[in-house]
Amino acid sequence: MEKYDYLIVGAGLFGSIFAYEANKRGKRCLVIDKRNHIAGNIYTKKVAGINVHEYGAHIFHTSNKEVWDYIQQFARFNRYTNSPVAFYKNEVYNMPFNMNTFSRLWNIKTPKEAKEIIEKQRMESGIKEPKNLEEQAISLVGKDIYEKLIKGYTQKQWGKACTELPSFIIKRLPVRFTYDNNYFNDLYQGIPMGGYTQIIEKMLKGIDVKLNCDFFEKRDELENIANKVVFTGMIDQYFRYELGTLEYRSLRFETEVLDENNFQGNAVVNYTEYEVPYTRIIEHKHFEYGEQEKTVITREYPVSWRCGDEPYYPMNDKKNNSLYEKYKQLANNEKNVIFGGRLGQYKYYDMHDVIAEALKCVKREFE
Ligand code: FAD
Ligand code: UDP
Repeated sequence: MEKYDYLIVGAGLFGSIFAYEANKRGKRCLVIDKRNHIAGNIYTKKVAGINVHEYGAHIFHTSNKEVWDYIQQFARFNRYTNSPVAFYKNEVYNMPFNMNTFSRLWNIKTPKEAKEIIEKQRMESGIKEPKNLEEQAISLVGKDIYEKLIKGYTQKQWGKACTELPSFIIKRLPVRFTYDNNYFNDLYQGIPMGGYTQIIEKMLKGIDVKLNCDFFEKRDELENIANKVVFTGMIDQYFRYELGTLEYRSLRFETEVLDENNFQGNAVVNYTEYEVPYTRIIEHKHFEYGEQEKTVITREYPVSWRCGDEPYYPMNDKKNNSLYEKYKQLANNEKNVIFGGRLGQYKYYDMHDVIAEALKCVKREFE
């Protein structure tokens, strides 16, 4: 006899929301995670009194009021607004691409001047319908910005030339003809005061959780422990890679505690030239306006993904998306398994997307 109604594979945001909502409805849930902690990639941990984002900077942003109200149940958010700075060699630029960036680069003042330069550079490159990330970037912001702030960063981030990458990746960033350094256009933005882990702790309160438990190491036993499975790991691994392997991009994080109180004066500094091996340095205290004596910084190095590495980013290009669609058909036939989250749905989801998807899934399942 099954002991649980749901086995939830993955104690990240998707799995934990599902568990919380199922538990609220009287369902018996077991949540497992192969890591030694809950919260997946939004895990934060206190180091030298500072909440450290263990898996890279996580800034919450959304325009979806339902999602914003939902997450507020679990933490209070501060007014943090992400405005990264980009270092290219010895030059410093504001991100995302806005009048501060354009005026520094071209020594101009007005939106009209900026638009004229971008249009001229776009015309010179002869691009009409952008077919890849390079063409998309040049169409949006011109060749100078592409060369200094996009090309090197993107090639090291994805391990591929910009001409081989899909345009949508660069469209994540706003292009603005106002002096506004906000990295996001969303209505709501902030960082949970006290870190993200508390959110997941609250969601999983009273629910059975087993850490250091890899679904694939005890698959037969675990598949019989519950009526249904919610799977938030890699969808291709679930199907034993039978249609081929999906590609991912991985990262390596190097964290240091420094004996100074302010290393870089900003939470996020991007290093956009190709020759610097990391893409960004995060100084965690600035997410919560910390005034501790020390500081903690993390360098983020993109690395190629091999089986067994952490699959931080799905590679959502044409080839991989079409393979995913085939896995999705297999998934549709697995009547007692729900696939969710960044890896289960193989989508470059941010936290707000994952919450929206999880809530949709809860509605489908229980209403
Ligand atoms: P995950 O958090 O990956 O959780 C999946 C869990 O499943 C993991 O804990 C994993 O260990 C576990 N698991 C996998 N396979 C198995 C298995 N076989 N057995 C047991 N357990 C398993 N989003 C934003 O909104 N803002 C940001 O600023 C932002 N920055 C980001 C920066 C980086 C570097 C990265 C990588 C992501 C960022 N995101 C950001 C995205 C955000 O992390 C995700 O949207 C969200 O955490 C995904 O939640 P999830 O539950 O789908 O997946
Ligand atoms: N990007 C860039 N230069 C930057 C920052 C971002 O070219 O200084 C590009 C890069 O291709 C990156 C994409 O914009 O992959 C999306 O950036 P975002 O900050 O959203 O990436 P994430 O935080 O998800 O890694």
